[in-house]
Amino acid sequence: MATGPTPVPDFVLSAMTESIYYHRGPAFSQVMKDCRELLPAIFGTKNDVLLFSGTGTLAMEGAIANFFNPGEEVISINAGKFGERWSQQAKIYGLKVHEIFVERGKAVEVAAVEEAIKKNKGNIRGILAHASETSTGVRHNIQKIASLAQQENNCLMCVDGVTSLGGFSVPMDKWGVDVLVGGSQKGFMLPPGLSFGAASAKAWKKSDEVKNVRYYMDWRKERKANAEFSGAFTSVVSLIGGLRSVLKYFHEVGLDNIYKRSWKLTYATRNAFRAMGCELFVKDDSQVSSACTAVMADGPYPKLIREQYGLTMSGGQDELKGKILRIGHIGYLDAWDVLDQLLAFGQVSASQGKPINMEAGLTAFWKTVHSTEDLTPKDLKDA
Ligand code: PLP
Repeated sequence: MATGPTPVPDFVLSAMTESIYYHRGPAFSQVMKDCRELLPAIFGTKNDVLLFSGTGTLAMEGAIANFFNPGEEVISINAGKFGERWSQQAKIYGLKVHEIFVERGKAVEVAAVEEAIKKNKGNIRGILAHASETSTGVRHNIQKIASLAQQENNCLMCVDGVTSLGGFSVPMDKWGVDVLVGGSQKGFMLPPGLSFGAASAKAWKKSDEVKNVRYYMDWRKERKANAEFSGAFTSVVSLIGGLRSVLKYFHEVGLDNIYKRSWKLTYATRNAFRAMGCELFVKDDSQVSSACTAVMADGPYPKLIREQYGLTMSGGQDELKGKILRIGHIGYLDAWDVLDQLLAFGQVSASQGKPINMEAGLTAFWKTVHSTEDLTPKDLKDA
C-alpha cells in the first residue's frame, strides 16, 4: 500500500456517488452540518475545521497566506520533502525562514528549536512543523515544540497533519497548536482533492492583520460559509459526502482504536524487518510516525513489486529515491494488507540476491499483531 492515496472502502465510494447534491441545497447543508460536528474531535479542537477544494499543499499554503505577513520570521523544520515544501512556500510569500535542516530519518531535536528561538529572540512569529514527515516516516515531538512556541509572544505553532490525522492524535487545543492542516487521501480514506484547516482564536485574530492578497484561499470566507453549512465556492460535494461516511465510521469504531491499530501495524512491521535482517531507515523507535515504515531498499523496488506482485508501494523521494521503500499503515487496511507487502518485499529482495529471513520476519510480525499490548508511544498515550 502506498503512503497515499490509501484504499477507499466501498462504503465511502457509495456515499460519494450518493451525495452529488446541489451545493446550496438542504441535502448538502446536512452533509456539511454532520461533518462540522464530527471533524473537530479528530483535530482535538473546539474550533471550526474548514474544508478546502484542493489537496494538502493548498492547505499548507493557506496557512502561510492567512496567518503571516511578508517579512515576518518563522522557524521551519525541514526533516524531509514536506518540511522542505513548507519552507519554500513560506519563502515565496516573503517570510524570513530560519530553516532547521534535520538529517533524513531523524526527528528534530527539541533543543535545536529552542536554540533557534533564543538566537532570534522576540522575532519569531511562527514555527512550521510536520506531525508526521511522510517522506521518511518520522514523527516530531509536536507537544514540546508547541509549548516552546506558546512561551513566545505572538508566535503561531503551525502543524502539517496530512499523515497524522487518522493515524495518531495531535490534540490542537491541549498542546497549543494554532494551525493544523490535513488532506483527504491518507488517514481519511478518501480520494485526493479535499483538504482541511483549523485555527486557534489567536491565529484568527492575526488573520485580520495579515496583508496578503487572498481570494480563493481566504480562510475567513470559508469560515463564514462553513458556519452556514455551506462552502464559499462550489464545494467538492462527492468528496465531502464521502467524508461524512468516514467520520461516522471513525465515530463508530472509536478514534482510539483506529490509532492503536496503526501503531500496532507500525511496530509489527518494524519488528518484522528487524527479524528479517533488514535495516530500518528511522532507527529510533520513539521517533517513528504511524503513517509509514521506511526500510533501506537499494534498487527499483516499487517498480519490481508492481510488475511482479501488482502491489503499489512508495519508494523514496528526491535524494532517497532508489534507497528506501515505504509501507503505509494508515487508512483502510489491516494486518493482511501489510503482510502482502512484506511478502512482496521479501520475495523481491531474495530475487535481488539479498538474504532475507522471511520466516523470522513473519513470526515477529504476527506475534506483535496478536499481542494485547497497547503499542502507542508513551508521549501520545494521554494525547
Ligand atoms: N504534507 C504531507 C505530510 C504529505 O504526506 C503530503 C503528501 O503526501 C503533503 C503534505 C502534500 O499533500 P498533497 O500532495 O495532497 O498536496
